[in-house]
Amino acid sequence: AVTEQSRIEAEQYVKSVYESVIARNPHEAEFHQAVKEILDSLVPVFAKHPRYKDSGVLERLVEPERVIYFRVPWVDDSGKVRVNRGYRVQFNSALGPYKGGIRFHPSVNASIVKFLGFEQIFKNALTGQPIGGGKGGSDFDPKGKSDNEIMRFTQSFMTELFKYIGPDSDVPAGDIGVGAREIGYMFGQYKRIRSSHEAGVLTGKGVGYGGSLARTEATGYGCVYFVGEMLKFRGLSFNDATVVVSGSGNVSTYAMAKAQELGAKVVACSDSGGYVYDPDGINVRTVKRLKEVERKRISEYVKEHPRATYTEGCQGIWTIPCDIALPCATQNEIDEHSAQTLVDNGVQAIGEGANMPSTLEAIEVFLNNHVLFGPAKAANAGGVAVSALEMAQNSMRLSWSFEEVDTKLHVIMKNIYESSVQAAEAYGHPGNLLVGANIAGFLRVADAMIVQGIV
Ligand code: GLU
Repeated sequence: AVTEQSRIEAEQYVKSVYESVIARNPHEAEFHQAVKEILDSLVPVFAKHPRYKDSGVLERLVEPERVIYFRVPWVDDSGKVRVNRGYRVQFNSALGPYKGGIRFHPSVNASIVKFLGFEQIFKNALTGQPIGGGKGGSDFDPKGKSDNEIMRFTQSFMTELFKYIGPDSDVPAGDIGVGAREIGYMFGQYKRIRSSHEAGVLTGKGVGYGGSLARTEATGYGCVYFVGEMLKFRGLSFNDATVVVSGSGNVSTYAMAKAQELGAKVVACSDSGGYVYDPDGINVRTVKRLKEVERKRISEYVKEHPRATYTEGCQGIWTIPCDIALPCATQNEIDEHSAQTLVDNGVQAIGEGANMPSTLEAIEVFLNNHVLFGPAKAANAGGVAVSALEMAQNSMRLSWSFEEVDTKLHVIMKNIYESSVQAAEAYGHPGNLLVGANIAGFLRVADAMIVQGIV
């Protein structure tokens, strides 16, 4: 049994680790936030099993195994030399090769890459697949760049990154600003430098050269599968539900498509400029064409759908009344105020398709108001889960059908839901999937680290 004394000791222990993280990584607010969320969840674990303290698992976990940062020089279309910074954080390899996406966005810095890499450890563990945690990126802004500029930048990025990655060591994929096009350019450059077709070095590849069917759809579909499990618990479903999905990229698009397939009415989506509200239901094909093919702003949507309206700014989307909200844009897109507005408007469930889209205060609001809350590490794990399936297919030199991969994805999302529910229950927070997911992910990584010795 957990005594009051052991709980206090666990709290103090976790707090001391958190303070050392702040001292060692000053001015990295996003990284601190991600660490705090995990550490707070782990108090019941250290209270129940003080032995987890002995091998210094936590002290080791919060320190990346390796952080690489590098210069990325490239020449723009006007002939001007430009320099960006590239990053790769190889956070934890206890369960398998480092695995995690690459983000191209002007906001990318050490704090962002570390928060994403740290989250990735637990998310990847939750999938049950043999993958460790890592993340990379650059402060390069793809917005407004020509296709040639994107290619030259991406090739320069890989010319340095290739030294640190490989099918059995570190396997990057996409994230914000990195999709099928960028993965293609990265793969081409890696292959050229290495003189070797190592399909398993990147995931999210085109299906014509080693990519997996259903990888593109996986994060969005997986998020909806996960939320579906949560809804079932309260006798609810997507059928006839009103849904708001932020973002209009890969995650958002396929979350909308799957929600619609299940009978939901998706009334809004967004990009970094603002959001569209369509009373007739968002036309996903229009969104996909505008964003992926024409690379235009979401504001263009209203030109083709005259009953829809466009509003500038990103927070407003959360004032739209809905039953289910799927934040699929970026970190901290839902603050305390927006969370309260969603609750006041009767939201039933949140499924985090993006990484850390809710602030710690927003999460408090959802949990205190008994909103079904699907935390990012669990709800958006479908993407990386299918990345692991892509690696498996590459190793076997064969490919599974769309249905096979989709079925495996569905099973994985169900398992993540169930292990989160069970861990929450076992550690005294029944129904709290945030705590449950964090604990379930942690235990898998911690147990592997312990048996591998102090490394
Ligand atoms: N960037 C995605 C994530 O946040 C996918 C990573 C991957 O497939 O490696 O999980």
